Amino acid sequence: MNIHEYQGKEILRDYGVAVPNGKVAYSVDEAVEAAQTLGTDVTVVKAQIHAGGRGKAGGVKVAKSIDEVRTYADEILGKTLVTHQTGPEGKEVKRLLIEEGCDIQSEYYIGLVVDRATSRIVMMASEEGGTEIEEVAETNPEKIFKEVVDPVTGLMPYQARRLAFSINIPKELVGQAVKFMLGLYQVFVDKDASIAEINPLVTTGDGKVMALDAKFNFDSNALYRQKAVVAFRDLEEEDEKEIEASKYDLSYISLDGNIGCMVNGAGLAMATMDIIKYYKGDPANFLDVGGGATKEKVTEAFKIILSDANVKGIYVNIFGGIMKCDIIADGIVAATKQMGLELPLVVRLEGTNVELGKKILDESGLNITSADSMADGAEKIVALVNQ
Ligand code: ADP
Ligand code: MG
Repeated sequence: MNIHEYQGKEILRDYGVAVPNGKVAYSVDEAVEAAQTLGTDVTVVKAQIHAGGRGKAGGVKVAKSIDEVRTYADEILGKTLVTHQTGPEGKEVKRLLIEEGCDIQSEYYIGLVVDRATSRIVMMASEEGGTEIEEVAETNPEKIFKEVVDPVTGLMPYQARRLAFSINIPKELVGQAVKFMLGLYQVFVDKDASIAEINPLVTTGDGKVMALDAKFNFDSNALYRQKAVVAFRDLEEEDEKEIEASKYDLSYISLDGNIGCMVNGAGLAMATMDIIKYYKGDPANFLDVGGGATKEKVTEAFKIILSDANVKGIYVNIFGGIMKCDIIADGIVAATKQMGLELPLVVRLEGTNVELGKKILDESGLNITSADSMADGAEKIVALVNQ
């Protein structure tokens, strides 16, 4: 789950991690009021969307007067920002962060991720702040420094110090930078984050080290114990189909293709997407209906898949283990009838009671193409959508 920059900064502030003063605003008047309350000479008007690259897209403006705050707030609110992270359709700006302008001396990068290779949290730092870290990794990989954190001790002050020196934080500010990194690490662990990115971390003219941007992603499996994080959820920033799916405990991720997939088990879902690609098709989604795929869940899954206008055909690939194939077949038939499905539907069933399941599909009188293997099904659905 993602949150907005201003929310990330609220969390950081709670942990004593330095961030500029600022306030969220939902309207131009609120933006002006926030700027008046801040009372700083320079105010920054920042679009709040769940995507980075706002600066380059015109979503971050420096205002030198209240009038300018009004002009920029008016310009940015309601605007659809297209950045390299939003996709070509962009994201509409509905909230602004009105923030104290910062006298930037230098910009740095600090990131925290859960590294799969070491199974540990890794803190990354670079002198090349402000730029995308992916770009730095490509052109100047030697400029990214990493510290692997031992979960028993947590991030050690000497590791933070080593990073601060490696990225050339001025000597007199190293102490502040270390405090910053230790605080950020604590937030990451306490809040069950999976990514934290401060880009840029800045040193200022008046000798401070602070976060000018804050991006967090939280592990959705831990949200049950992170009430404060859940309270920050902004459903308007999320895919409607994904929200609907989460209500029924379906794991659903929208993709760009035209073959809707309904699969049980994440591994099988990944393999299904792979094999569709192998036959030169494009999956429209990842959808794991889970082990207990009931008739209701199957119906919901169909509804969600069909609400995507790009879908031109559906491939159901289910392994009947916990759930028997005949029950699943019943679910598919009921859902298809209820939805009046007109798109091509290929079903591959395997597992307990598979013969009975196939019989139910064959005798349903519905236009369902059955497949004998995963590859057979993938080939058939790709052929059908390309007709
Ligand atoms: P994004 O990463 O989405 O482009 P940032 O929050 O990183 O958005 O802002 C882009 C740039 O705008 C920063 O690199 C920084 O140079 C400038 N900036 C952002 N916030 C402030 C601020 N409070 N004061 C001064 N400059 C800022
Ligand atoms: Mg940034």
